[in-house]
Amino acid sequence: MEKNEELLGQERMLRVRFGWSAGPYLGKFLTELRDNGKLWVVRCPGCKRVLMPPRIVCATCYTRVPEFPEGWFSLSGKGRLSDWERVIYPQMDPETGQIRPEPYLHGVFILDEGVTFAHYLGPEDLDEKKLREGMKVEMVMKAPEDREGKLTDIKFFRIMEA
Ligand SMILES: [Zn+2]
Repeated sequence: MEKNEELLGQERMLRVRFGWSAGPYLGKFLTELRDNGKLWVVRCPGCKRVLMPPRIVCATCYTRVPEFPEGWFSLSGKGRLSDWERVIYPQMDPETGQIRPEPYLHGVFILDEGVTFAHYLGPEDLDEKKLREGMKVEMVMKAPEDREGKLTDIKFFRIMEA
């Protein structure tokens, strides 16, 4: 091959469809989010950590976690803003392969029950300059007919104070 020789490339879009079962733990979590707009968590009987989403075995102490509803409780959906970032680089949506519109705000929240959670911060016209650490936030759900049983059924978290 000659130096500086241009290599030819070909673009091909693979279409690989697959489905997987969310199982009784994540499945219940996503169903409750979709149908009732609630975040359900479970406290690990071993190390007492709150698991969100609930899982069959605690990743820290490997204790078996009871199935819904034993030890499960729903969160208020409210908390405080811990951190945020303006995402300005193009990112692909892993579900659609499409590039997500940017920029957008992404936040990290400490929910009232002590759980750390990250999601979009909205609405779109939210003035980033007014954001302060510790501001009260609340979860805003999509309309029931638009929910799909995914974390994106949460539209965004909004600031509760001016
Ligand atoms: Zn544990």
